[in-house]
Amino acid sequence: MSSLESLRIDLNGLRDGQTVLDYDLDERYLEAVQAPDIHKGNFHVTVVILRTDKFFELKFHTQGTAIIPCDKCLDDMEQPVSADNRLAVKFGETYAEEDDLVTVAEDEGILDVAWFIYEFIELAIPIRHVHAPGKCNSAMMKVLQEHSASRRDDEEGDKPIDPRWAALLKIKE
Ligand SMILES: [Zn+2]
Repeated sequence: MSSLESLRIDLNGLRDGQTVLDYDLDERYLEAVQAPDIHKGNFHVTVVILRTDKFFELKFHTQGTAIIPCDKCLDDMEQPVSADNRLAVKFGETYAEEDDLVTVAEDEGILDVAWFIYEFIELAIPIRHVHAPGKCNSAMMKVLQEHSASRRDDEEGDKPIDPRWAALLKIKE
């Protein structure tokens, strides 16, 4: 978990005014936050914190590349990620999250931004993400096309499922 330690911001230790923090995040980070959907990638995150007494405004700029499966051919593809997000944080009695306002217990004063950053990355990924035209795995596309053709046959006749497709599903698991 040591790769996440730096993402736990000690708010009490910040002076009034602006503080800038920079992070380079990779697989170790994704593993540490137990990322459900993105397991590979590199991200540079800049956090600009503006403190006014017991109130903190955090502006996140996230830039990088997520390696995720292409919707078309299922092979890994590089999805550029660029996101700007904001969090407002205040000190209070106990920890609470309400929309983009986070309350942090003042006696602890620790704000863990690891999961916030993961959510920002996920939100920045388009719902449909595919390789650039012509960059899909052609062998995989062929199998997928044959599968959809054989599925059409199935609906008309009684052909069994393409064994190559079954084997492919196994590999992808
Ligand atoms: Zn593809």
